[in-house]
Amino acid sequence: MAESVAETLRLGGVLLAEAGTGTGKSLAYLLPALLQNRRVVVSTRTKALQEQLARKDVPLCERLLGRAVRAVVVKGRANYLCRHYYERFLKEPLLKSQKEARLFGRFKRWASETSTGDKAEWEGIPEDLPLWADVNARGERCLGSKCPLYAECFVVLLRREAEAAELVVTNHHLLFADLALKGRWDTAALPEYRHLVLDEAHEAEDAATSFFGVAASRRMLEEWIRDAAPAAASDPSGAASQRLAEAAQAARLFFGAFEGPERREEVRPGEWSPREASMLARLGAVLDAAALALDGVPDPSGEAEGLLLRLEAWREALDFVVRTGDEEHVRWLEVTPRNVTFGASPIEVGPILRGHLFSRLDAAVLTSATLTVGGEFRYLRDRLGLPEESQELRLPSPFDFESQGLLYVPASFPAPNSEEFAGELKGAVRRLIGYSGGRAFVLCTSLRAMRALAEDLEDLDHPVLVQGDEPKGVLLDRFREAGDAVLVATSSFWQGVDVQGEALSLVILDKLPFAVPTDPLVRARVENLRRKGREPFLEYQVPTAAILLQQGAGRLIRSRRDRGVVACFDVRLRTKAYGRILLKSLPPFRVTGREEDVADFFRAGPGGGGP
Ligand code: SF4
Repeated sequence: MAESVAETLRLGGVLLAEAGTGTGKSLAYLLPALLQNRRVVVSTRTKALQEQLARKDVPLCERLLGRAVRAVVVKGRANYLCRHYYERFLKEPLLKSQKEARLFGRFKRWASETSTGDKAEWEGIPEDLPLWADVNARGERCLGSKCPLYAECFVVLLRREAEAAELVVTNHHLLFADLALKGRWDTAALPEYRHLVLDEAHEAEDAATSFFGVAASRRMLEEWIRDAAPAAASDPSGAASQRLAEAAQAARLFFGAFEGPERREEVRPGEWSPREASMLARLGAVLDAAALALDGVPDPSGEAEGLLLRLEAWREALDFVVRTGDEEHVRWLEVTPRNVTFGASPIEVGPILRGHLFSRLDAAVLTSATLTVGGEFRYLRDRLGLPEESQELRLPSPFDFESQGLLYVPASFPAPNSEEFAGELKGAVRRLIGYSGGRAFVLCTSLRAMRALAEDLEDLDHPVLVQGDEPKGVLLDRFREAGDAVLVATSSFWQGVDVQGEALSLVILDKLPFAVPTDPLVRARVENLRRKGREPFLEYQVPTAAILLQQGAGRLIRSRRDRGVVACFDVRLRTKAYGRILLKSLPPFRVTGREEDVADFFRAGPGGGGP
């Protein structure tokens, strides 16, 4: 892999490299990247993976190369302190609780001493400190070069540092946020680059979808109103503040009309009830008035101008969703307990990525443990708009899956959509957890199934952890510490979770993880393929499920010593033709339909090679 990466970075082009777990893919791209005489940007999925590269892999490269490496980690902008908004906050600190007031002294000390502004340096300050929302450097409210503190801005300094680096380690969210931003504001966090390594590339479509779409939410507008209050207060007549208060009220009325059960549904432009249309018109009118009032306030720092641009972007996004129509986007409304969002997502990101990213790069390496479906790269190439002539490389995992793992798909089990399924599943899950002595992930395809199983497992003799009870990181720490816990979760635990050793020995999947067919984006993508005369089920739904399934199963064997069982209770894996494609995508575990084999596997213990 290192040779192929080196060749691609040197000669240009696109390399797709699927590298199974345990192949050492990070080193295989970092070393050749560091042997080039040019800046390479490496993008991975999460902050945690960025840290891992910077703390573990880059120092190893330094030892191997016998020299220091100029590497810079660039995280999402919201990880850094915004000096401008912090200064403003200090003038009138709005602390939301006594606890926050107690922590404020410590926070101020950090803010006055930090040379990076990176919140990862915090000690004794909780991750979710509420005031951080007011003082972080997130992009949409950044004043760019108009900012009075631009020269000292942590994000600007970091970009300069990155410009001088040979290796920039970032994550997909920042990479795509930056691409979506370019040309609009001078607030990009990444320097120019022409050589890119996209790790965990199977995630790229989702990340690009969210950043090349638009969204206008109630929370964004509320934040804007809050941020605009100080500028409005400088209007001696009080009119600007009054207009903001009217805007807040109109926003409450408008978004309040859509509150209700949690949902995500398609929005068709123009299909509004007279009441909704009149509230939308009222919101537009008061926002016009607020913008006009803000335009007239004294604005020595350029802040009001930045606020007006932000409001314009928000209104353009809302207009795009509710008033216009095109074939390229699907428009949706998402209601959660805390927010109401109108959004539009690109149905195909391939052409966008080609235009905004791949066409302006000299070389791109896309890698992950799961890039192929049924052994082929066609799906990924198609979804990401990659050229046909991309180089392809598949490196199998060095693990001995045949003896380290067992895949159990019951020889007979109720169909997943049958009435008996849920009841049978509960009994079977309890039995399997009995064989494994806990140490299990139970991954469900729906929240409802997750809750039902979690409730049923409450009386187990093992700690039962449930997604949503605590933040993901805390749940995982508890899982690792307990050693015999059971974690019941949905899709967010299917990917990127690393539990090495015996704490995790059983992964149970209730059903095949097909995307929810009623989700507006899934439906639009399916319709789009159908319109083109293609076969959406086999070309989109099965491959998406295959990648998720691989990721879910991939949680289990993370080292040569790990052993365990993946159990999937969806018999379509056996009975349907597409089941074969899905099976072919999984690691080559020994496959069984007999529950006794699972019991025997665990009885054989850590040293045993199974029955
Ligand atoms: S340039 Fe933007 S992020 Fe930096 S200090 Fe100014 S407003 Fe904050």
